[in-house]
Amino acid sequence: MKRILITGGAGFVGSHLCKRLLNEGNEVICLDNYFTGAKSNIIELLDNPYFEMVRHDITEPYYAEVDEIYNLACPASPVHYQYNPIKTIKTSVMGAINVLGMAKRVNAKVLQASTSEVYGDPLVHPQTENYWGHVNPIGIRSCYDEGKRCAETLFMDYHNQNKVAIKIIRIFNTYGPNMNPADGRVVSNFIVQALQGKDITIFGDGLQTRSFQYVDDLVEGMVRMMNSDPQFLGPVNLGNPNEFTMLELAQAIIELTDSKSKIIHMDLPQDDPKQRQPDITLAKNKLNGWEPKVQLREGLLSTISYFDTLLLNQ
Ligand code: NAD
Ligand code: UDP
Repeated sequence: MKRILITGGAGFVGSHLCKRLLNEGNEVICLDNYFTGAKSNIIELLDNPYFEMVRHDITEPYYAEVDEIYNLACPASPVHYQYNPIKTIKTSVMGAINVLGMAKRVNAKVLQASTSEVYGDPLVHPQTENYWGHVNPIGIRSCYDEGKRCAETLFMDYHNQNKVAIKIIRIFNTYGPNMNPADGRVVSNFIVQALQGKDITIFGDGLQTRSFQYVDDLVEGMVRMMNSDPQFLGPVNLGNPNEFTMLELAQAIIELTDSKSKIIHMDLPQDDPKQRQPDITLAKNKLNGWEPKVQLREGLLSTISYFDTLLLNQ
């Protein structure tokens, strides 16, 4: 049994990871300030004697004797990370310094949840890990993109200078149950709009692309990365290479929910990436053949069913 800290554990991805690691017989400490996460995501775990919830802000130091740390604390949706951009960059940068300092002190292995956003609006397609990216350092997405880039730097420097055991994953757009319905990300927005018969809001012409990964595939990749060869630090892309336009996504959701919603177009936000698709060759090679198993329609159906129940209960 390992003792594992998950920062951002009450969020969308973190809550799935808490469950997975508890099911494998570990002790889990979930740290969260509930900015975008919710107690409802982890409520079923609160009675488990091997689960502990800590309300804490990762911009402040935290210490616990643990074997592993998954560092997920950071708002991930543009609406939320742009709400207080200074806090967002502090969360990534000071959060990284705090978890790395703790990992150094207690000799823990620490995994950073980085993002495909480090590639910005990519000029290389699909994106491989050795692409340095095309990021605006002073735009509305910079607090998130540059915060995550700086966190990667800190992880590498703590490893090189202080021999901290690190792992870096770059997560591509992920969706599934436990997303916040008011999160503002495209999959949750479109599903909630379709279920409520409201207009589906496509930003711009809808021809921009994303590659959507179901959360179970991501969690499998995260656990494999944490347990991978100690020499392999990453960064490694974790995403589903199947790429869709936002128009295709909207049409699939309208069809699967049998919705009468109409598609409307709204202004495209500044610096919105035009395309995004992971090259997952490295993950396949280094993580025992890891690859996504759940394709879009199957994943959308279980996500739709989650939001359907949630909206009925509200
Ligand atoms: P989320 O917003 O649901 O979860 C983030 C969690 O971090 C929330 O529970 C939030 O309350 C918590 N948090 C935020 N600031 C904090 C702080 N200062 N101190 C403590 N807790 C704090 O987002 P998610 O989709 O679950 O993302 C989890 C991680 O994965 C994030 O680091 C995100 O950048 C990364 N990621 C996610 C995706 C995706 O598509 N879901 C893609 C790329 C990277
Ligand atoms: N998007 C959209 N309508 C929405 C929300 C988002 O068309 O209601 C678009 C957004 O402009 C972007 C894509 O969907 O091109 C993915 O947006 P999301 O916020 O989910 O993630 P990110 O842009 O960070 O990949």
